[in-house]
Amino acid sequence: MPMQPSLFISHGSPMMLVQDSELRDFLCGLGDTLNAAYGRPDAILIASAHWLTPRPAVGGAGALETIYDFYGFPEAMYQITYTPPGAPELAVRASAALAEVGIEPEHDKVRGLDHGAWVPLRYMYPDADIPVAQVSVQPHLGPAHHLALGSALKAMGAANILVIGSGNLTHNLGEMGRARGDDAPADWAVDFAEWVKSALDEGRSAELINYLRHAPDGRRAHPTDEHFLPLFLAMGACGEAVRPARIHTSYTGGAVCNDCYQFG
Ligand code: ZN
Repeated sequence: MPMQPSLFISHGSPMMLVQDSELRDFLCGLGDTLNAAYGRPDAILIASAHWLTPRPAVGGAGALETIYDFYGFPEAMYQITYTPPGAPELAVRASAALAEVGIEPEHDKVRGLDHGAWVPLRYMYPDADIPVAQVSVQPHLGPAHHLALGSALKAMGAANILVIGSGNLTHNLGEMGRARGDDAPADWAVDFAEWVKSALDEGRSAELINYLRHAPDGRRAHPTDEHFLPLFLAMGACGEAVRPARIHTSYTGGAVCNDCYQFG
């Protein structure tokens, strides 16, 4: 069986739960596409921009509660649940892999899935039958740290575990809808997204790691870093030498780029 790839997924807005979008259409087909190419994964290890901890943590709950960590949205959205089995054994295995490179993660046996994890997974794997464990993000530790986290998890793909980093390729919510008064992508968002694509295509990892210095409008694309960092975890999990494929591109409100990448 071929080894599982790793993915960077833009999870978009939770409005996806009640509104169709290009991103939602894409995610709806993605699980089947991956299953056909790589076989069904035994479990999923997902890092989300919505679980932020001072030091790395791995979620190993046996039953996963649906966390509604979004506010002020239509009431119907808070009735939707997504409860795949937990993956406590995978959490132990991931923790051990991190410990091997000197990262001693916290083991959280209670936490469920935040919307950065469950919303995209609900569309990718609607049957909710693949066990899931989550990994946290440490925004203050930056890209190189998340690349190292991913590298430590490199054996997962060969063990039939799908590793996913869930964030957004650009994430400036303050500029949504302002770009041109409509949904046309803002030039700065496109410039940033295309810079990321060429840097990934050409293997310019050092520039990616220092994206605030090298990318056009890095801080405008990411007023805070947490939605970009899962990209580095996905990149590390498949080995930096692997050239990724951009498997989706779309924009929300002109300022939020939903590009997704597959590594491997
Ligand atoms: Zn988000």
